[in-house]
Amino acid sequence: MTNATAPSPEQVRLIDGKAIAAQLVEQTRQEVEEIAAAHGAAPGLAVVLVGSDPASEVYVGRKIAQCRKAGIRSVEHRLPADTDEGALLALIDEMNADPAIDGILIQLPLPKGIDASLVLDRILPGKDVDGFHPVNVGRLSSGTGGLVPCTPLGIMMLLDTVIADYRGLNVVVIGKSNIVGKPVSMLLLEREATVTVTHIETRNLPDIARQADVIVAAAGAPQLVRGYWVKPGAVVIDVGITRITDPDGRTRLVGDCATNELGHAAAVTPVPGGVGPMTIACLLSNTVRAARMARDA
Ligand code: NAD
Repeated sequence: MTNATAPSPEQVRLIDGKAIAAQLVEQTRQEVEEIAAAHGAAPGLAVVLVGSDPASEVYVGRKIAQCRKAGIRSVEHRLPADTDEGALLALIDEMNADPAIDGILIQLPLPKGIDASLVLDRILPGKDVDGFHPVNVGRLSSGTGGLVPCTPLGIMMLLDTVIADYRGLNVVVIGKSNIVGKPVSMLLLEREATVTVTHIETRNLPDIARQADVIVAAAGAPQLVRGYWVKPGAVVIDVGITRITDPDGRTRLVGDCATNELGHAAAVTPVPGGVGPMTIACLLSNTVRAARMARDA
């Protein structure tokens, strides 16, 4: 079934993630200046890339560029793919002990042979700007502070531009990953929304989605969410990013939603230019938060 009254793409009300992220980067830059003036040094972020996965190279490059924009000192560690797990753990210990490093980011995925959870668990929770350490995961699920993963944090900031009160809203989250689906569900529960978390084994997903006031689609399944899945006036956050190749051989990025079928939605995030820029901007604001926590300690 398709939406017979599908609007043209220009009728879809888009949430401009790029502009909102730019505001957050600017706000972060001002906070960095304040911290530097008060403490004599700007916050520092260490970014560790092991191996040369092309997508990871691009992400790390973007993160470093945005750090510069916000005035955050960035330290890059590029290690060969055959790096020994022990050497990586030793580097983390060194950075944990270094007061000039406020945040530590290990770019995922790590090469085979390195236990990612062992590595992530080694980062001090206060420097864990990705929010993946079990202490931060626990704090998030108990609603007791801690550093929150960047993509869910960015999703909430985008939603906050169109929703003032979440109490009682039906939210359907598609995808239950540790980096997006589960943490965003926790944040939404904290705001008193009624959250349904769905995944690849969920039955009747279109029917469940159609009940939602808000859909957060984080499945990595291109254009999974069709117009008829979305009730009129719903807000749709499209987290998915998949690179597809068109018949003419050109590649482009697509999200999890058939955006041009969503003219009846209240607001939709575009791909690219929606959640993606927010993720990096939130990494910077998490670094500033970690720096403040370290200096206030
Ligand atoms: P993941 O592969 O870890 O998890 C995907 C989840 O979606 C799983 O729970 C799976 O059960 C569910 N799923 C997959 N196909 C489904 C389907 N057809 N129907 C219902 N559920 C389905 O993925 P992830 O790391 O959470 O990432 C999800 C997507 O979000 C990817 O496209 C990823 O690139 C993107 N992403 C974007 C950002 C960003 O900054 N914009 C950040 C993180 C992830």
